[in-house]
Amino acid sequence: MERVLVSACLMGRKVRYDGAAKTSGDALLATWREEGRLVPFCPEVEGGLPIPRPAAEIEGGAGGSAVLAGAARVLAADGSDVTNAFLAGAQSALATARSFGVNVAILKEGSPSCGSLTIYDGTFRGRRMPGIGVTTALLELHGIAVFDEDHIADAGVRLRELEEG
Ligand code: SF4
Repeated sequence: MERVLVSACLMGRKVRYDGAAKTSGDALLATWREEGRLVPFCPEVEGGLPIPRPAAEIEGGAGGSAVLAGAARVLAADGSDVTNAFLAGAQSALATARSFGVNVAILKEGSPSCGSLTIYDGTFRGRRMPGIGVTTALLELHGIAVFDEDHIADAGVRLRELEEG
C-alpha cells in the first residue's frame, strides 16, 4: 500500500505557529486515515521550532528552492532567522517520506514549509504569491508529488496510477 505524507495540522494536530490546527474534513483523507495510509508530519516542529512560534515567511517572496540553494532566508515576524530550522525540518520530512516509501504528499497550502502553489510574499502583510515552501521544494526535488488540501482528489488519481502500475 502506498503511504501518504500529510501535514500534521491537516490531521487536527495543534502544531501551527498560532497553536491551532487546520483540520481537513476531506472524505478521501478520512478514508486513507482509516486504511492506515497516512504519515502525519510537521516540518517546523520536527525542525525544532516551538508551539506557538512567531509567523515566518521566506524573505523577498523567494521560493523554497532559493532557500535550499542558500539564496534566501526564512525570517520570523520578530526578525529572527529561522532558516536552519526550516532546512532541518525539510530534511527530516524527506527522511521520513523515504522511510515509508512515500511518493505522494498532501501539504498545507500557503505555508513557508508546506505550500505547493502559494506562499506569503515576505512582507508579513498577508499577501500571497505563487511559490512553494522549503519542505515542498525538497520533496519535489526528490520526485515526491506534493498536492495541497484542495487537490486531494488529484493525489488520489496519482496514488491509483502508482498502485495499479
Ligand atoms: Fe502545518 Fe506544515 Fe505549518 Fe507544520 S509546517 S503547521 S504541518 S503547514
